[in-house]
Amino acid sequence: MTFVVTENCIKCKYTDCVEVCPVDCFHEGPNFLAIDPEECIDCTLCEPECPANAIKAEDDLKEGEAHFLALNKELSRIGPVITERKDMPADAKSWDGKPDKLKLLER
Ligand code: SF4
Ligand code: SF4
Repeated sequence: MTFVVTENCIKCKYTDCVEVCPVDCFHEGPNFLAIDPEECIDCTLCEPECPANAIKAEDDLKEGEAHFLALNKELSRIGPVITERKDMPADAKSWDGKPDKLKLLER
C-alpha cells in the first residue's frame, strides 16, 4: 500500500506534510505535491499533518479518486524531492475545499 496526495492539495500546497516523512518520498510540482508510491512505507505520519486533508491511504481512496494513485506515481518521477516546509501560496486558503481543481494542476 501507499499513501496518496489527492485533489485538495492542488493550489493549497501547504507543505506541512513533507517534514514528517521518514523516507523523503514527497516530490514537488508547481502547484501540487506527489508521494512516490515505490518509496512510501505506509508509516501514516503525513496524513494528519495535511491541513487540507488531501493525503489518504490508497485503500481509503473514494470512487473517482483512484486515478490520483497513477498521478502521484507519474508526478513523483518528474518533480524534485521536497523535505523542508516552505511558505504556502498567498491564496492557498481560498482554494481549500474548492471542487474541480484537477484541471488547474500544473506539471
Ligand atoms: S500538507 Fe496537504 S495540501 Fe499541503 S502539500 Fe502536503 S498534501 Fe498538499
Ligand atoms: S505514509 Fe509515511 S512514508 Fe508514506 S508518504 Fe506519508 S510520511 Fe512518507
